[in-house]
Amino acid sequence: SKAKLFDEKTDTRTSFKDVAGLEGAKEEVEEIVEFLRNPDKYTSLGGKIPKGALLVGPPGTGKTLLAKAVAGEAKVPFFSLSGSDFVEMFVGVGASRVRDLFKQAKDKSPSIIFIDEIDAIGRARGKNSLTGSNDERENTLNQLLTEMDGFGTNTNVIVLAATNRADVLDKALMRAGRFDRQIYVDLPDIRERKEIFEVHLRPIKTAETLDVDFLAKQTPGFSGADIANVCNEAALIAARKEKKAVTKQDFLDAVDRIVGGLEKKNKIIT
Ligand code: ATP
Repeated sequence: SKAKLFDEKTDTRTSFKDVAGLEGAKEEVEEIVEFLRNPDKYTSLGGKIPKGALLVGPPGTGKTLLAKAVAGEAKVPFFSLSGSDFVEMFVGVGASRVRDLFKQAKDKSPSIIFIDEIDAIGRARGKNSLTGSNDERENTLNQLLTEMDGFGTNTNVIVLAATNRADVLDKALMRAGRFDRQIYVDLPDIRERKEIFEVHLRPIKTAETLDVDFLAKQTPGFSGADIANVCNEAALIAARKEKKAVTKQDFLDAVDRIVGGLEKKNKIIT
């Protein structure tokens, strides 16, 4: 059903405060927030608001979070779908789903459309794909391109898409007037990991002595999603032990657990 594939979220709770680090990326999307807040101001001199931007970076680095924060900051509706939703779709459905999505977003504009894992539909045409029928995928991709080209100057819908495989994308997607901006969302460095910890420690009852610098030091290579995971695991570990607050040791145990999980994942891949 429609509701399963894409959900409109008018919830404005995600803001830039929820996105730690990513200063450069935030700066770039701030401009998009401005456009959405004040479309008329920007089109009054004949300029065209950009139609799309590609968020590029490894898994779990906050691409979805950032897209939601754009919608939240601009106070506009957020429509989303994931490229992987198309993997099991019946033939002929993909293109009409894309059409429906754009219609809804235009009806509620200004608005944001977010397409996660766009590589699942946006792989270069004519190459092998793991995602079922190639024709079906190409039809879906073509519909997406058609919709973006069909935007009038005053449509005021901005399409954000996320991928960790920008290299496999069909070049047609990156043409002017489509996803002609690329915004990099990288793994956090030590300072950014500290900031991400601070965001995810907010709801956690911690023992007063907790040293966030130390936690950041213990987690090289962790994504924001991994850090969110650590904080949650630590709280569960402490609760299981009937503790009143989460201690440094609980965090270290959680880090070990996440590292173990990451190692397992890597073993399967290699
Ligand atoms: P994927 O490519 O796997 O879809 P993504 O880049 O879209 O990943 P998100 O889904 O946005 O990553 O991140 C997952 C969760 O990790 C977020 O909901 C948030 O809790 C946490 N997170 C990731 N990056 C950050 C960040 N920079 N600041 C705060 N939290 C973060």
